[in-house]
Order: sequence, then structure tokens, then C-alpha cells
Amino acid sequence: MMLLRDLKTILTLAWACALAVVAAGPLTAMPSHLRPHLYDYAPPALLEPLDNDDPNLLKGWSPVDEQSLQQTLGEAGLTEKVVKIAVYRGFGCKMAAIKLQAGDWETGRFSVDELNADAVKVLKAVFDGPDRFDHVDLWAAVPMTAPDKVKWHWPVFSVSAWKRQYDEIGDAIKTPAEALGKVGLVRYDPMLLDHASDRADLAAEAMTLGMPDLTGRRDPAGNETGTPDCSALRSGCAASRTVAITIDDGPHPVISTLMLKVLADEGARATFFLVGEKVLQQPQLLREIVEGGNEVGNHTFTHHRLPDLRPDVVRAELKETSKLIEAITGKRCRLMRPPGGDMHASSMAICAELGLLPVFWTRNTGDWQDRPVHEIVAKALKNVHAGDVILIHQARPDSAESLREIILGLRRLGLKAGSIGDMLNGAPLIRGKAPSVIAQLQAKGALVRE
Ligand SMILES: [Zn+2]
Repeated sequence: MMLLRDLKTILTLAWACALAVVAAGPLTAMPSHLRPHLYDYAPPALLEPLDNDDPNLLKGWSPVDEQSLQQTLGEAGLTEKVVKIAVYRGFGCKMAAIKLQAGDWETGRFSVDELNADAVKVLKAVFDGPDRFDHVDLWAAVPMTAPDKVKWHWPVFSVSAWKRQYDEIGDAIKTPAEALGKVGLVRYDPMLLDHASDRADLAAEAMTLGMPDLTGRRDPAGNETGTPDCSALRSGCAASRTVAITIDDGPHPVISTLMLKVLADEGARATFFLVGEKVLQQPQLLREIVEGGNEVGNHTFTHHRLPDLRPDVVRAELKETSKLIEAITGKRCRLMRPPGGDMHASSMAICAELGLLPVFWTRNTGDWQDRPVHEIVAKALKNVHAGDVILIHQARPDSAESLREIILGLRRLGLKAGSIGDMLNGAPLIRGKAPSVIAQLQAKGALVRE
């Protein structure tokens, strides 16, 4: 019989494969605590203890800093709550990702008030404590059990903050909820609110959206025959002197923030193709992406390859992701990128119906394959031309380092690193009925299935 641990590993590996742009190839070295969570299962046991033995507690990039932070959080009375810690140092920043247990399994209490208080304790420890961090991604999870009895951690709360945001809290603030509302958009899962023993104050800026229905049941079939006129983009307008940087698969704790720092430091912007379920888990990161002047596109809700899904499910995946992005940013979502670059005529037609322009790429850096920075950069820049579209991922700190080198390299060539929107005007769009657009993309070597 297969061990529980093996099942967990298989599920995790399957998910990592789904995240990769091409199904084949080695898995990325993303630390386990930063892998996305599965959550579409009923919550049978909200207050079971999560795993927090030491070998799993520290999983980042800077073990000495992680041990020190673990001690600081212990001194703040959070030893029983801390499940994972990761620290990254680089780009002039010291950043922490911290996962807490939501709820107190010893007392059986599950309280919003207590979670707010724990979150503020963490912010205080991280920013005022001896470790002096610049940024923290904090989230809290509960155990979930899959139908096959595999246990998973479902994130029910998140907040993400820079030290400067924390410093704005000030002494006049009375409650933890008030303090959290000052630092950014705080996510409370409806499940947390439904099961809490209190209905304490939520942060002033709170998001309480739950998982949408992605079964397609609520989405009656539209036009799936491929009859609408479709467009797709593979390269942009050369006259713009711009090369678009497209960054897939986020938002991601730590890596999103690193990439935003690089873009801000270099005065550049990019297009982020985001996965809906990750946006749902970390809404503050989406807000920061947009506040940095970057563009956002739809990368589906669950990152399944579109040709593997029923048309009504494809429609639900895309609609729900756009809806979520629009709810947080207040801006219409017009661009999409299919996971793996994999599209067929039916999903092409659905994009046209939903007003989404599928965006492919001309330069795949393969950064998710654990390549060294110089190789990633060479793949992006060798014979690069204005109008090219570069693909990188929110996978590793090396991707952020590569992003910086790519921006600098483009500048040396007299080109601007920008977003898809910067080179959309006058772009040579691929147009026609859905099957024709698919055929044209295939002829151009874009990664598209029949
Ligand atoms: Zn992807």
C-alpha cells in the first residue's frame, strides 16, 4: 500500500508539473512550503494540528536567518502557531514568508480575533524585532483532507507588507484588525468566517471571496463552434522599440515581491499572467503588481491545460479569473495566456467570446528548468528584436536576477523592456476564425496543440 507521504509527494509533483510551461523536463526547485495548495475539498477537521516539526519548518534560502526568525517568533509566543518559515536575502532586501496554523487545536477555538492578533504579533516581531526584515508574506492555513485521505493545508488568511506600510500603523491604532487594515488588503476565507467562534472585526481592507464554482454547471454553453472572429498575439509592434516581458504563474510569495523590486529599481514594467487561485490566496500581491504600473493578464484559475477541459469549464476558469482580477484592480482584464501555450479551436473561440486576447511568446527562457542565470538571459536576448515577447516565470530567485539582467541587456541594445500593452498598438495580430488562428499559430511555431 502506498504511504501517505508518497501520495503527498505525487500530488505535489503533479502540481509542479502542471505549473511548468512544458509538461516534460525536470521539476523546479521551489521549496515545498511555497507550492500552491489544493483546496477544493470539504473541511472535515479544521482544528487538527498542522505538521510543524523542525525539518519542515525552515525551507527557504537563508538558514541562519530562518533560525533566528524562528527564535524571534518563539519569543513572541508563536511557537505553537508557526508551521513554515522561509527567508530570502538579496536585491537589497531581507524578506520572510511565514505560514501559521489558523485556530487553536488544543482548545478547539477558531477565532478571527485571535488570528488578527497573531498576525500583528508576527508583523511586530518581523519588523521591530532584532531581525529587521523589509518585507513579509504571512498566511494562515487549516488542514484539509482530499477524497483519497491525503491531507493538505488550505490557506484561509493572508496579508503581505513592507516595513514602510507597517510603520504607518502608529500608536493611535487600538485593535489588531485596525492595524492590519493599515498595512494592506487582508484576505479572510469565507470558511474561516463560517467556522469562527467569533465574528470579530475584519481588517478595514478585507477580501472575503471564496472559491468559485469551476464545474461549468453555472455556465451554460455559449458559442463553442469556433465561429466568432478571433485574434491572438505572438509578437508586438516593432516600431514601439519595446520588448515585452511576460511573467507567468504568480502571484508568488517572495518571488513576486522580488520581481516588483527589480522592475521598480530599473524603471521598467511587465505583464504578469496570474493564476486565479493564487490571486485569491494573496490578493495584496496583485494589488502591488498593479500599483507598480504593471499589466495583468488571465492565466486561468487552476492552471489546467485548456484542451483537457470541457468548454463550459474553460469558460468558467477564464470568467472567474477575470472577475477576481477586476474586483481587486478595478480594471478590465483583456489579455490571457493559456497554460503551457496549449490551446485548441474551442478555447480560442471562448476567449473571443469573453473579450480576452490570447498572448503567446517568441522567446521562452526555460527559467523554470533550473537553468543558470546566464543561460536564461542568453535565451532572452540572443538576436532579440523590438516586438519580441519574452517568457519567464515566478519560480525562483534566479528568475528575478535574470529579469534584471534582461532589462539591462535590452537597454544596452537600445530597446525598452515593457508590457504587452506597450507594443499592442500596431501589433501584427493573428486573425481569423478559431481553427484558422490555431493553424497560423502552429505554422509560426507557437506551442499549440491541434
Ligand atoms: Zn503557466
